[in-house]
Amino acid sequence: MAKKQFKAESRRLLDLMVNSIYTHHEIFLREIVSNASDACDKLCYKALTDDSVGLGRKDFKIEIKADKDACLLTVSDNGIGMDKEDLENNLGVIASSGSFQFKQELGDDAKDSDVIGQFGVGFYSAFMVSDHITVVTKKYGSDTAYMWQSSGADGYTVTECEKESVGTDVIMHIRPDTDDEKFSEFLEGWRLQELVRKYSDYIRFPIRMEVSKTRKKEGSPDDKPEYETYSEVETLNSMVPIWQRQKSKVKKEEYDKFYRDKFSDYAEPQRVIAVSAEGAVTYKALLFVPSQQPFNYYSKDFEAGLQLYSSGVLIMDKCADLLPEYFRFVRGVVDSPDLSLNISRELLQHDRQLKVIAANLDKKIRADLSKMMKDEPEEYSKFWKNFGRQLKYGVVSEFGAHKEDLQDLLLFYSSTEKKPVSLADYVSRMKEGQESIYYAAGETVETVDRLPQLEALKDAGTEVLYFTEDVDEFTAQALTTYREKKFLSALSGDAAPAGEGEKKPEESGESEYKSVFDFVKETLGDQVKEVKASKILKSHPVCLTAGPGLSFEMEKYFAVVQPDQKLKADRILELNTSHPAFSALEKAVSGDPEKAKKYASLLYDQALLIAGLPLDDPSGYTDLVCELLV
Ligand code: ADP
Repeated sequence: MAKKQFKAESRRLLDLMVNSIYTHHEIFLREIVSNASDACDKLCYKALTDDSVGLGRKDFKIEIKADKDACLLTVSDNGIGMDKEDLENNLGVIASSGSFQFKQELGDDAKDSDVIGQFGVGFYSAFMVSDHITVVTKKYGSDTAYMWQSSGADGYTVTECEKESVGTDVIMHIRPDTDDEKFSEFLEGWRLQELVRKYSDYIRFPIRMEVSKTRKKEGSPDDKPEYETYSEVETLNSMVPIWQRQKSKVKKEEYDKFYRDKFSDYAEPQRVIAVSAEGAVTYKALLFVPSQQPFNYYSKDFEAGLQLYSSGVLIMDKCADLLPEYFRFVRGVVDSPDLSLNISRELLQHDRQLKVIAANLDKKIRADLSKMMKDEPEEYSKFWKNFGRQLKYGVVSEFGAHKEDLQDLLLFYSSTEKKPVSLADYVSRMKEGQESIYYAAGETVETVDRLPQLEALKDAGTEVLYFTEDVDEFTAQALTTYREKKFLSALSGDAAPAGEGEKKPEESGESEYKSVFDFVKETLGDQVKEVKASKILKSHPVCLTAGPGLSFEMEKYFAVVQPDQKLKADRILELNTSHPAFSALEKAVSGDPEKAKKYASLLYDQALLIAGLPLDDPSGYTDLVCELLV
C-alpha cells in the first residue's frame, strides 16, 4: 500500500523532533499519556448522556506495557478511540497545534535551540525515542478498527485491523541505544514509574503497569530468608492532587509529606499557603515557605520557580515567572485549567493569565507573612533569619519599585529592644521631638554596640537600628523614608539625641579650637575631608563620620564587589574637645608641632580602626605607638 505523506509542515516538525539534540526526550511519555487521558475524558463525558457507553468514570484506565525483548513500549487507553478520518486528521497533520505555530515564529533558529520538549509537542514527540510507531484504535460507536503506522518523516499508512474493545494502543518501537543516549531506559519499569510520577502523577485516571517486586519465599526460614521476584499490576499515579482538595480536609502531616517528597527537603515547611481562585483566571495553588534556607540558596545553582500544571498535567517544573524575585524561596505548585498544555516557556512569559496568577500569589504570600509577623512573632523571626536578606534585596532592586509592598515585612535589630523589630514598631516608640529613624551600620551587633559614636544616643535612651548586613544601608537608602520619617545614620555626625538636634552644644568650640583643627587637617591632608569638634562623642576621644552619600559600610561592600572602582566615603575626623587626649594635642600644637603631627596621625589611625577601615600604613602606626610609649 502506498504511503501517505505528512502535510509539509508536519514533516518539518517531525524532522526537527527526530534530529533535535534536545535532551528532554523523556517528555514523550507525558504527551502520550495526556492524549490517552483526554480520550478517556471524552468518552467519560459522552457516557453522562449516553447510557449505551456502559462505562462509569471509575472504569477508565491507562495501561503501560514494556516488552524489553521486542523493544516495544505500549500505552493503551479505553477512551474514545479514532476512526479512519480521525487518524488522517489528527495524526497526519499537526499544523494547527500551538507548538507548531511557535516553531514557525522561530523559523530556522528552532533547529539549534532546545525549544522542543519545553512545551507540549504532542503525539509526534514519540518519534524522539522511537523509530516506528503503530497506533491501533477503535472509535466508540464504530465496528471497524484501524492501524496507523509510521517510521517518521517518510509518511504513514492506515489499514483496517482487528481490535476488540474501544480505545487506542500506541505501540512505540524504541530506538537502539547510541553512545549519547540510552533509549532502552524507556523500557525499564523503574524509569517509566519515575516518569509517570514526575509528569503525570495527577492524571485523573489510573495509570497501571506491571511492576516487578521482591518478597520472601513462603516457607523459607526467617534466619536464612530466600527471596523471589514476582510481578503485580500497580497504579503508578496518585490521581487526586493534594492542591485540589479543600484545605480544611487535608491534615498537616499530609501537606508536610507532600512537600518533603516533592521538593526533596528533609524538614517540614514553615508555612503552607493554599490558594483557590475563581474568576478572571481559575486556578489552585499550594505554596510552601521552607523552614530552612536551601544550602545553595544564594548560589547560581538555586533554581527558583513554581511547578505549573494544566489540569493535573505538568507543563513546567520551575516556572520562575510565577514568583517575584523577592519571594524566590517559595516552593509550590500552581494548577490552572485555563492554561494550554501546548505553551512554550517563551510564550508563557507573555501570557496574560499567568501574569494575573503571579500578581495574586504575590499578594497572598505577602498577606500570609504579615499575618505571621503579627500573630507569631517568634516564627516570623525564624523566617526572617532564613530569608530576610532576600526581602531587603527586594526593596533595593528595580529602583525601589516594590518598597511599599515590602517595607512592613522588614525587621532590624533594635538597640533598646535587643531583638529585631519592625519599622512600624520603631516609629510607634519614637520619642517626642524625634524626627528620624536612627541607624548605625557595622559588622555585627556587638561591634556596632561598642561604637563610640552611639554613646550620646544611648545615654539619651534613643532607639537605634543596627544594620549588620551589607544590604541594610542600601535598603534604608531605597526607602528614604518610612511613614514620613527619614532614615538617619547615627554615625553621620548629624545625629544628636532626640530633641537635642538644634542645640549643638559644642558649636562654640569650633572657633575656639580652630587652630587645632586646621593643624590636624593640614597634617592629614587629603586623607580627611574635614576635622571638627564632635557633637556625638562623650567619653571617647575620636571617631570618623562619613557625611552624606557613601557610608563606610557601603565603602567596604564596594571594595569587595567592585574593587577597581576604589569608591571611598568622605572621612570626617571628629575630635572630642573635652577629652584629655585633645588637651594633649592642643598643647603640642602650640609647643611641639612635630609631636602634634604624630598625635594627629595617631588619632586618625585610631578612628580608622574603630570604623573597621584598613590603615594605610599599619606598621607605621605601630612604630608610632611604640615611639610614644618610651
Ligand atoms: P494535541 O493533543 O495537542 O491535540 P497531539 O499531536 O498529541 O496534539 O494529538 C493530536 C490528536 O490526535 C489529538 O487531539 C486527538 O484528537 C488525537 N489522539 C491522539 N492520541 C489519541 C488517543 N490515545 N485516543 C484518541 N485520540 C487521540
